[in-house]
Amino acid sequence: MDFRSVLATKRDGGELSAGQIRDFMAGVVSGSLADHEVTAMLTAIFIRGMAEEELARWTEAMLHSGGTLRFPEIDAPKADKHSTGGVGDKVSIALAPAVAACGLAVPMISGRGLGHTGGTLDKLESIPGLRTDLSQDELRRVLGATGVAFGAQTAELVPADRRLYALRDVTGLIESIPLIASSIMSKKLAEGLDALVLDVKFGSGAFLREPERGAELARTMLALAERFDVAASAFQTSMDQPLGRAVGHALEIGECLDCLRGGGPADLAELVALLGGEMLHLAGRAATRAEGSQQIGAALSDGSALGVFAAVVAAQGGDPRCVEERELLPCAPETERLEAAREGTLDFADTRAVGLAVLALGGGRRRLADEIDPAVGIVWRRKAGEVVARGEELGEIHHRGGRGLEEAREWLARAIEIGERRELRPLVLARVDP
Ligand code: URA
Repeated sequence: MDFRSVLATKRDGGELSAGQIRDFMAGVVSGSLADHEVTAMLTAIFIRGMAEEELARWTEAMLHSGGTLRFPEIDAPKADKHSTGGVGDKVSIALAPAVAACGLAVPMISGRGLGHTGGTLDKLESIPGLRTDLSQDELRRVLGATGVAFGAQTAELVPADRRLYALRDVTGLIESIPLIASSIMSKKLAEGLDALVLDVKFGSGAFLREPERGAELARTMLALAERFDVAASAFQTSMDQPLGRAVGHALEIGECLDCLRGGGPADLAELVALLGGEMLHLAGRAATRAEGSQQIGAALSDGSALGVFAAVVAAQGGDPRCVEERELLPCAPETERLEAAREGTLDFADTRAVGLAVLALGGGRRRLADEIDPAVGIVWRRKAGEVVARGEELGEIHHRGGRGLEEAREWLARAIEIGERRELRPLVLARVDP
């Protein structure tokens, strides 16, 4: 490959051919292209964008940069959900067992938290003993036995994305619709799914804050799903405030256990029912979305979803007693009340700052190699739109010996606003049509 001429094609606004993309991806995976060369191409795409056909070719090349998962021995339809990430977004952890209890297989390959968002894998690993670094054989065995497997992206699965994402992360090249869409969809397509539901977040806790940009991302991903023959749908849901009440790894697991018992915060339960109902409908296990949501509701209230979760925890090496005995989960030694400075209506001016407060407490990563403290976090007593009195408890900060507490307080002061009542945007803004 004459890399300079391939780069010039994109730099000057042209379309990359299938051959050029194949050669480029081969250079990304083998390491024959240097970081500065790969970054130059990513920058050109960031600025110039990609045509529809070109993006499909790019995604296909990413998908085939490594092996793919296939589960021919599992009869149940395979379905997954992907969220673009937010603060307190723990939906997958309650959703996957509920959907499996209704007859689907959910090979859930998730990510780790970075920056202001927590990752599903980190949350699950707050359960003592639980491993998510499953080999393909282990993933297959856990999925076959329980209907769910929570795994991490391995070196064999879409290796091109590992390098591309890492370079985008350190060079400010994340917020590009074709780059995000190809990154997410190549990994989801590698799971060998029949159905996929996309939860595209908007609001101050989301990566793409404006709903219009989120809708464009959703449409781009839906077009890719159609091209690769995976039934898919997408919703835009709110990150105008943290989802649920808990933000922090073990605290969020506790909240998921409440949801898996048919309780928990209303917004979490609503998203689990909505997205789960959609998965069942897309995979042909429910005649309508509403019927799918009813099936999910039944699995949460009759204990079957909780039973699947306990089985997955045990199958992945975790202590299944945590499901019944919450005190076995990591617990921060100290808590501090967060009080309202004045009377008025609570609002989250900057949800992202809540995630950054948890990061300051030690419950997040600034770099991928950082250790996280699974016990720390925040539990909100009040939600946006509620009227609070001066001095009233808004939430509880769970910390370890005051580590990062001062910085967390500063982030939280930035996160909340107490003032006049204003109109809240809905939790579910729209279903996105292709
Ligand atoms: N999540 C991904 O997997 N990739 C992106 O580019 C952004 C979010």
